[in-house]
Amino acid sequence: MRIGTGYDVHRLVTGRKLVLGGISIPFEKGLLGHSDADVLVHAVCDALLGAAGLGDIGLHFPDSSPEFKDIYSIKLLVRTGQMLREKGFSVVNTDATVFAEAPKLSPYRKEMEMTLAQALEIEAGRVNVKATTAEGLGMIGKGEGIGAMAVAMIEVRGAG
Ligand code: MG
Repeated sequence: MRIGTGYDVHRLVTGRKLVLGGISIPFEKGLLGHSDADVLVHAVCDALLGAAGLGDIGLHFPDSSPEFKDIYSIKLLVRTGQMLREKGFSVVNTDATVFAEAPKLSPYRKEMEMTLAQALEIEAGRVNVKATTAEGLGMIGKGEGIGAMAVAMIEVRGAG
């Protein structure tokens, strides 16, 4: 068994679509970034890459590359899952928390979990997504951005 962590934060701006966990969420602002800036997917990718000893998301999908401009980040998660399988790993589980003052994310939780699990080609029960606010404190609390953290556990395929 191996474990990894991931963390990400992106700025909220007007004129961008809000995409979290691969789901488009109706909101007056969206996250700014080179890709679709899906912080949840980025944190999960980093947790998986970390668990596999494969570095981080910036190493594999650099934000200087036109290939990843405005990319749907779920595609990066699909590629991360492929890299893990090529290394002989399978995902035991991943658990993530999104920090957002708004919008309310609980209605989208299950759909996010299903989308992440599908991208990784694993059962939905192996993915958990939680959401919390920052109680009005700091940059997240003021609605300037949205953050996410994740942990992932992986194992050598066929073990256990
Ligand atoms: Mg990011």
